[in-house]
Amino acid sequence: MAFELERKLMVEQQLKSRGIKDKSVLTAMENVERHLFIGEHMRERAYDDCALPIGEGQTISQPYMVAIMTELLELKGNEKVLEIGTGSGYQSAILSRLASEVYTIERIKPLALKAEDLFKKLGYANIRVVISDGTLGLPEQAPFDGIIVTAAAPEIPETLARQLKIGGRLVIPVGSRYSQILYQVKNTPSGISTSMSTYCVFVPLIGEYGWGEAGEEQ
Ligand code: SAM
Repeated sequence: MAFELERKLMVEQQLKSRGIKDKSVLTAMENVERHLFIGEHMRERAYDDCALPIGEGQTISQPYMVAIMTELLELKGNEKVLEIGTGSGYQSAILSRLASEVYTIERIKPLALKAEDLFKKLGYANIRVVISDGTLGLPEQAPFDGIIVTAAAPEIPETLARQLKIGGRLVIPVGSRYSQILYQVKNTPSGISTSMSTYCVFVPLIGEYGWGEAGEEQ
């Protein structure tokens, strides 16, 4: 099946049917060529309803998870957004179409360089890739309208919540190493408010305010 048709089916059968409503999110998911962010040997599975391996023991997230996390960022188009966990670069490419500036942090250098190269080739000019520990955020570019963490944290890192503008949203999976709940955290004028979205399973967020390399909480 042609990839374009597979994307249309993905949007209908995996996203709309599960309640994704934001039209700009659905349009971005219909247009970004997910198969280009995956190794050639896996491409025929690019639009499957699951996460897929991308090397270095990491994954590209399930399309539905990318969509719901993006929807929870509540983007209108003019925002400055930070992503923690560049991975394949697919989520950054979706964000690139929905916000004005995207910063994405990856701790594994080969993944970061590969994604950066792909952004150049595909013309995603508003994405900046940073190689570092994303649990520290990016203080020199803060505050952000939105922060999305695409790896599982043991708790909500205060460092990230502090880098939100008033009205800003942080979307993050929080829980154990093996299962989490997706949270939307808002920085309101009266303080931080937190709401739960759905159950999920992500690879661990490893860093100073995440998990240790050996699986211990830092
Ligand atoms: N957003 C990615 C995509 O679209 O392909 C999927 C991300 S993958 C599920 C999680 C990524 O988070 C991995 O590439 C992992 O190396 C990265 N990661 C884990 N801890 C991190 C940290 N402290 N800082 C930056 N990246 C981190």
